Amino acid sequence: MSGYPTYGPLGGPVLMIGSGSIAHGTLPLLLRHFDLAPDDITVLGPETADDPVLGKLGVRTVQAAVTRDNYRELLTPLLVQSGRRAFCVNLSVDTSSVAIMVLCRELGCLYIDTVVEPWPGFYDDPTAPLAARTNYALRETVLAERAAHPGGTTAVSACGANPGMVSWFVKQALLDVAARTGVDGPEPTSRQEWASLMARCGVKGVHIAERDTQRSRSPKCVGTFVNTWSVDGFISEGLQPAELGWGTHEKWAPPHSHRHSQADAPSIYLSRPGADTRVRTWCPTAGPQYGLCVTHNESISVADYFTLREAGEVVYRPTCHYAYHPADDALLSWHELFGRGCATPERQVVLDEADVLDGVDELGVLLYGHRANAYWYGSRLSIEETRALAPFQNATGLQVTSAVLAGMVWAIENPDRGIVEADEMDFRRCLEVQVPYLGPVEGHFTDWHPLQSRSALFPDDRDDDDPWQFRNVLVH
Ligand code: NAD
Repeated sequence: MSGYPTYGPLGGPVLMIGSGSIAHGTLPLLLRHFDLAPDDITVLGPETADDPVLGKLGVRTVQAAVTRDNYRELLTPLLVQSGRRAFCVNLSVDTSSVAIMVLCRELGCLYIDTVVEPWPGFYDDPTAPLAARTNYALRETVLAERAAHPGGTTAVSACGANPGMVSWFVKQALLDVAARTGVDGPEPTSRQEWASLMARCGVKGVHIAERDTQRSRSPKCVGTFVNTWSVDGFISEGLQPAELGWGTHEKWAPPHSHRHSQADAPSIYLSRPGADTRVRTWCPTAGPQYGLCVTHNESISVADYFTLREAGEVVYRPTCHYAYHPADDALLSWHELFGRGCATPERQVVLDEADVLDGVDELGVLLYGHRANAYWYGSRLSIEETRALAPFQNATGLQVTSAVLAGMVWAIENPDRGIVEADEMDFRRCLEVQVPYLGPVEGHFTDWHPLQSRSALFPDDRDDDDPWQFRNVLVH
C-alpha cells in the first residue's frame, strides 16, 4: 500500500492504555493515518519503560498500572491535557472497560477497546458461579451502563478482529448469501431488517471460523505458553465457560449446558472451559477442522443483533460461536496447561513478527444452514504480507489493529453516539478503512457439513435429520 489515506486530526491527543502486542501494532497505524505527531501519543502501562518499540516510535510513556483505586486520579490529567480531550485507546488487560468508558464520557473523551475487560479477579474466582464468569455477564455490564446513560461521547466497545471486524464480515457475507440464494430486497438499514434478512435466508448459525498457521522459528519449550497475541488474554477467556449464542433451530442442548436466569438472554454456557470444548468447523485452506469454542463477546452480540421478534416474542435467532484453531504452539500450550491442572505456565511468549517463520491467519465467518449450505467470508493474511503492510506485528495482530483503526475513524466521524458495538457501526465504512490491511478477503461456498467430519469406527451421538444442529457440531 502506498499513498496512505489520512483520516484527519483526532481533535486531541491519544491516550493508549497497555503496551503489549496489539498496542505495538496499533501505534504505527495511528501515526500513518491521523494527523498526529509521536508526542501527541501517551502510552500508559506497567511495562512501558525500556520498551524498544515505544522508544523507536518516540511516543510519550507513563509507567503505571491502572487500578480500581487509582484510575480516576491517574487517567484524568492524561485524558484532558491543556483543555484538549484525548482519544482513549484501551489495549490493556486487567482494567475495567466500563469504568474507563464512564470516565471518558464524563470528560467528553472518545473511547475504544477490543474486549470487554474486567478488573482483576473476575476470571479466576473459584467461588463465583459459572454464570457470573461468562461474557454474557460482562457484556451485560456494558449494556446496563448504556441503558442507564444513553448517548454521550462515542465509546466503541469490543472492536478488534473478533470481537469487532467479524461483525462487519457477517453483514457482507449475509448479502452474498442472499444474492447467491435469490433472496431479494433492498439492503437492510436497521437491526430488524438485518435480522429479517438472515431469517429469510434460512441461516441457522454463524461460526467465527479461524485457522492460524503461524509457526515460530524456535520450537516450543515445555512450560512455556506460546501464542500469536496476548497469552494473559487467551488464558483468561479460554478458562471461562464455553459460551454460544443459541439459535431457535436447535432441537437439543448439551447435558452440561445452562441457560441464564434472564429469560431473554441470547446465549447459553457450558460447565466446561471453552479452550477444552471442541467443535467441528471449516476454513478454506484447512477444510474441515476442529476448533475451540472459546467464549467471545461476538458469540453473544451477533446472536442478539440478528434476533427477530414479533409481538415481543423471539421468532428467529442464529446460533453463533467461535471455532478457533489457534497456532499449533498455542494448541499444544493448552494441552499442557490442562494436563497440569490449569497451573500458570512458567513462561509466556507472544510471537512477534520476527519470531514467526511462516504461516497465515485465516479468520472469517461461516454462515451455515441456508439453501447454499455454508459460506465462509474472511481475511487470509500471511506473515509475509503483514511484513509488507505494517511494522511491529504478526498477521493476527494486523487483523486486530486495523480494526482498531477502522473503529477510531468511525468514532471521529460519529462522535456522539454513546456506547456502540461493532454490529451497530457502518460495516461498509469500517471495512473500507480496514480491508487494505487484511490480505485477500474472500468468500467461499462449501458443501461441507459437520456430519461429514466423523469416524465410522465408533458409535456417534448425532442428528441425521439436520446436519447443522449443534449436536453435530460439538465434539462430544
Ligand atoms: P498483551 O498481553 O501483549 O498486553 C497487555 C498489556 O496490558 C501489557 O502491556 C500490560 O503491561 C498491560 N497491562 C496489564 N495490566 C495493566 C494495568 N493494570 N494497567 C494498564 N495496563 C496493564 O496483550 P495484547 O495482545 O496486546 O492484547 C491487548 C488486549 O487486546 C487484550 O485485552 C486482548 O484480549 C485484546 N485482544 C483483542 C482481540 C480482538 O480481536 N478483539 C485480539 C487480540 C487481543
